[in-house]
Amino acid sequence: MRDDFTEDVKRALAQRVANRCSNPECGAVTSGPQIDPAKAVNVGVAAHLTAASPGGPRYDDALTPAQRGHASNGLWLCQTCAKRIDSDPVRFTSELLREWKAGAEAAADAELGKSGMPRPAKGLRIALPEPVNPIGHLSSGAGYVSRWRFRVRIVAEGQALDIVDLGVTEDGVGAWTIREVFRENIGGQIPRPIAVERSVEFWIDAESPRGSDTKPTSVGRMTLWFRDHTQREGERHECVIDRPPIR
Ligand SMILES: [Zn+2]
Repeated sequence: MRDDFTEDVKRALAQRVANRCSNPECGAVTSGPQIDPAKAVNVGVAAHLTAASPGGPRYDDALTPAQRGHASNGLWLCQTCAKRIDSDPVRFTSELLREWKAGAEAAADAELGKSGMPRPAKGLRIALPEPVNPIGHLSSGAGYVSRWRFRVRIVAEGQALDIVDLGVTEDGVGAWTIREVFRENIGGQIPRPIAVERSVEFWIDAESPRGSDTKPTSVGRMTLWFRDHTQREGERHECVIDRPPIR
């Protein structure tokens, strides 16, 4: 027994996000013209935040069939992203998907009725999409190296931006050395500037200036900062992590 969405619910889900995929890294347009002038092609999917049937991805048995088939349990995605989230439900949790949904609806709301003229930059939203990794104290021969690797999500809340500079600082210690900025599945350094069309995710691997030690040291308040191409030297977007986990 599957608690599928009705056609009305599917249509509403698509229209609430302007017929675009709700994955912030994707945003693909999901409808367009067919050769037949009276018909349209749909390549979007009303995905379930929690599965329509037992055993499905993120299934929640606390929901009633009506709740499972309700629009509030749906997310509009392109076919590729719909396949991805159902193939990897550990990574694509219902919490993450709810975030995508809220973001996509907010974006559609902000753009509703507006022309495609470039809008003034509203800045960057910096998010850590998963709990920040413990700061590792990896053995490096005789000593330890204080390194930190974490995933960051950058969302351009207006026009597309280029990140021209970025850094990690620790209160009372100063700038950490950025060792690597890389994408999960691509690997290697991302060349700068880093283009943020709508959103981008990447990993930062940084090393404390208090690098080599004989034992792990505690870490203070951390600030991640990014400077986009519209900002002057010294201006920056910041994300403060008050108490980074340590190991
Ligand atoms: Zn997509």
